[in-house]
Amino acid sequence: MAKETVLQRYFGHQSFRPGQETLIDGILAGRDALGIMPTGGGKSLCYQIPALLLPGITLVISPLISLMKDQVTALNGMGIPAAFLNSAMKEKEFQAVCHQIRKGMHKLVYVAPERLFQEKFLALMQEKRVSLVAVDEAHCISQWGQDFRPSYLKISAFVARLPRRPVLAAFTATATGAVQEDILRRLTLRDPVKVVTGFDRPNLYFDVYRQEKKRPLLIALVEARRGKSGIVYCATRTGVEKVCDLLNRRGIPATRYHAGLDEEERQRNQEDFQFDRKPVMVATNAFGMGIDKSNVSFVIHYNMPKSLEAYYQEAGRAGRDAEPADCLLLYGAGDVSTAQFFIQQAGENESLSPEEREQIQAQDTKRLEDMVGYCKTTGCLRGYLLDYFGQEHPDSCGHCGNCRSHVVETDITRQAQMILSCVRRVRDRLGYFVGASLLTQVLRGSRTQRLLSLGLDDLSTYGLLRGTSEAGVRCYFETLEEKGYLVTEPEHNTLRLTTKAGDVLFRGAGVTMARLSRGETLPAPVKKGMGVAATPEDESIMEMLRSTRLRLAQKEGVPLYMIFSNATLADMARRCPRDREEFLTVSGVGEVKAKKYAAAFLAVFAQAEKQGLL
Ligand code: ADP
Ligand code: ZN
Repeated sequence: MAKETVLQRYFGHQSFRPGQETLIDGILAGRDALGIMPTGGGKSLCYQIPALLLPGITLVISPLISLMKDQVTALNGMGIPAAFLNSAMKEKEFQAVCHQIRKGMHKLVYVAPERLFQEKFLALMQEKRVSLVAVDEAHCISQWGQDFRPSYLKISAFVARLPRRPVLAAFTATATGAVQEDILRRLTLRDPVKVVTGFDRPNLYFDVYRQEKKRPLLIALVEARRGKSGIVYCATRTGVEKVCDLLNRRGIPATRYHAGLDEEERQRNQEDFQFDRKPVMVATNAFGMGIDKSNVSFVIHYNMPKSLEAYYQEAGRAGRDAEPADCLLLYGAGDVSTAQFFIQQAGENESLSPEEREQIQAQDTKRLEDMVGYCKTTGCLRGYLLDYFGQEHPDSCGHCGNCRSHVVETDITRQAQMILSCVRRVRDRLGYFVGASLLTQVLRGSRTQRLLSLGLDDLSTYGLLRGTSEAGVRCYFETLEEKGYLVTEPEHNTLRLTTKAGDVLFRGAGVTMARLSRGETLPAPVKKGMGVAATPEDESIMEMLRSTRLRLAQKEGVPLYMIFSNATLADMARRCPRDREEFLTVSGVGEVKAKKYAAAFLAVFAQAEKQGLL
């Protein structure tokens, strides 16, 4: 069978996505492979198709139990024989699956890395023919990555124990050079075909909200997306609890996930989300890797994550069905110190040598700076992300918060003079420089104990910015630092004047501050097929398709997207198939699914025609 036939017959797709074909051809020709593609880029197909074409079995090593289960259910739903083995299984279940594998009933076997060296499993793999070992989320092998898993280090030793070396293929969405190096070296890939596809996800809309009052903003953002599925990420467990309560009190069906919940509740909540019983998930970053829910239409970060890698990975869980989706980040100044705290904590890791610790901390700090840069930039957000991942891009994408607003330069010369002279006065009075928070208190005329005891309330610059909010003053400080008038002395976090400050204080130089101005407070996400407004007829057909899908999903007890993804329903509505043959041309409809579902969906179109909707 040709690979195109497999693509159409089983997966129902008409053509390959960029990079897929190269990797599949390489693997089929017996070469190792390294595929680096963004989340939702279609990595799974790159090993699933070879698995069906190669003799013997394909072993898929995957870090997360939930991911395995979903992928296997999805594969079975397409008529592909696959099974999984993980550490959460009962012995009896495990034995049963091993028995099926021994009898040659499965083409794909998903396995958790912890299981590899288990005696029975190893013996079984030595007995069967393993043609391909596919390593999913391969960055877990690198301690430079976000999600280092020591058990991944055993993969190459496992492969060495097999009687004949299978083809090795590694896949990840994390692209930094150090991680790539680690993957190649630690998996001992031999001269692999390598595909690094573009990182852009054109259907994602990016925006950053720089606002101190996050709660009302979050409610407005989620309410504007009522009925849609989304994830709200918070930095801490307490944050998750609070935000989840907040949403529930507003009548938004939300559930929660973090490492502090017991296994049973985590499982239950994840399923509520997966099955759209609770369309909004509030979670820490413990939730997500391996979530294969394609209809997530927004990801809101209530706090800033610690790196752009983490951000892009988490935000990238939106819109995997290629439908328009929003990735929104709520940035407050407090987020930076929370992230710094986590970095310091991680530095206390006992298992590392002092040098390693230092190196990792330095790297984490750099990552954090880049992340903060994203939150503050007035340039194109997508461009900023792509720059970070080393990809070329146009100056402006036209589809992010910053591209949709315009920059206004405001003159802040007067405020700059007040601030810089305040820094000078305080320094003259005390004989040393102090930090931004004390300076802010002086400028805003606060009466704190510390300030009064230092006698700073009788400086001539005391209270000059009385009417400005704390966040406002902070913004001025940041601008002055960006423009080189102030500099933070790293050891004590104090703010000092630079020689350039003299230009403003004594030589009449002006200062401006860039601010983004938006026509509207909420982004209006762009509709798919831009320009073509959906007619009421289209809407009611979609409604009918959705309810048919819901009925089938309930009957089978599977999540909605396991029947068909939103993208498939949308394509169906565009094509209006009249018979089985036309039904098969819909993207995402393979032969098995056509057999199972054609009748139900074709009935919708017959009905629509009767009602005069077509
Ligand atoms: P990744 O593992 O890279 O995050 P997946 O393999 O889960 O991405 O694929 C994401 C989505 O893209 C899935 O819904 C899948 O069906 C779809 N997809 C993959 N390859 C194709 C293709 N060639 N044509 C159309 N859709 C595809
Ligand atoms: Zn942009």
